[in-house]
Amino acid sequence: MAKTYDVIVIGAGIVGSACAAECAREGLSVAIIEAGIIGGGATAAGMGHLVVMDDSEAQFALTRYSQKLWDAVSDELPREVEHDACGTIWIAADDEEMAEAKRKAAFYSERGVLVEMLDAQSLAEAEPNLRPGLVGGLRVSGDSVIYPPCAAQFFVDQATARGADLFLGASVETITADGIRLRNGSSISAGVIVNSAGSSSPALTPGLPVKKRKGHLVITDRYPQFLRHQLVELGYLKSAHSLTAESVAFNIQPRKTGQLLIGSSRQFDVDDARIDTSILTRMLDRAMEFLPGLRKLSSLRAWTGFRAATPDKLPLIGPHIEHKRLYLATGHEGLGITTSVGTAKLLAAQIMNRETEIPVAPYLPARVTQETVHV
Ligand SMILES: Cc1cc2nc3c(=O)[nH]c(=O)nc-3n(C[C@H](O)[C@H](O)[C@H](O)COP(=O)(O)OP(=O)(O)OC[C@H]3O[C@@H](n4cnc5c(N)ncnc54)[C@H](O)[C@@H]3O)c2cc1C
Repeated sequence: MAKTYDVIVIGAGIVGSACAAECAREGLSVAIIEAGIIGGGATAAGMGHLVVMDDSEAQFALTRYSQKLWDAVSDELPREVEHDACGTIWIAADDEEMAEAKRKAAFYSERGVLVEMLDAQSLAEAEPNLRPGLVGGLRVSGDSVIYPPCAAQFFVDQATARGADLFLGASVETITADGIRLRNGSSISAGVIVNSAGSSSPALTPGLPVKKRKGHLVITDRYPQFLRHQLVELGYLKSAHSLTAESVAFNIQPRKTGQLLIGSSRQFDVDDARIDTSILTRMLDRAMEFLPGLRKLSSLRAWTGFRAATPDKLPLIGPHIEHKRLYLATGHEGLGITTSVGTAKLLAAQIMNRETEIPVAPYLPARVTQETVHV
């Protein structure tokens, strides 16, 4: 007779992997089903910035909770996860953005996040390759950076060490009443099925209000002294919240390898994964406006990925409103690397029927309906 699991986790991106590790830690029997390779979806495409964000109280709560969880495991992370406590500097190019930096500083410090306001001179000292004439910035020293695919592998290793079974190259065709049916025709049953298939999650659960939001990134050769912090322009917020179909913003990250990872772009309603040279050029031009020295450096590769976006920019974590055995862990947009660990804790606590460590209501799938409109 085929084995029945307590939990089937669909997708071994960073979210599914973290959920699988957490469920296995709870003593549940877990099957991880991944159509491709571990961490090969949006997880491989993302920047790996572990960042506290303040778009809403709920977003802050989940990112802050998650950052504390990452800090708690940082000593256990293998070298290849490349955890780097480089911190973030939010850059203010004009007085309006400096006012936003101050608002952000107040919001964070009221909630216990260490921040430091930088004037023009201290910004230049912190990052000498930035162009002159910037107004200042906000340093958030607790933010850090990881290499996400290896973090996903780390969580899968934790899960399998606790007895989880990994089905690699196994593609889920349908979620059934008591489990899943694979494209090869076989079925696996479980008490709980977790849809953590990222931007493919609506293909398995029709009607989910999750849309693809495409992003481009570029990685350079190794220039170890060029940058010290992850730098994000405060104009980034205008881009991330933009109501238009596409936007670019300056966002750059120093990798432990000495490479520089340059972002980022956002495009709705684009299914084509190919590089869009016009948006790539806009993105790089924006980066070179802030860091003119980038013009002299060599890039190695550019790629794209799809964020899984929800209408209210919060993930879906918890039971599906109709399917009794189905749980969702999807819709993490541009923060799924950061919030994977918080998601895993919230999901596992709900499966175990235990109280969550932070209020879960803002992330429950019941808050959104099929009719919810994306801006
Ligand atoms: C350009 C860009 C930059 C980003 N930067 C950051 C950042 O700096 N910080 C941050 O926190 N987040 C960032 N993100 C967001 C982050 O990458 C995602 O939120 C996160 O990787 C989502 O993880 P996931 O596990 O939900 O999805 P995925 O990584 O896409 O994993 C889903 C998995 O499900 C599998 N799957 C799909 N369908 C099936 C099926 N039918 N059967 C079996 N398996 C299936 C896929 O193969 C895939 O491996 C960025 C994203 C992009 C695109």
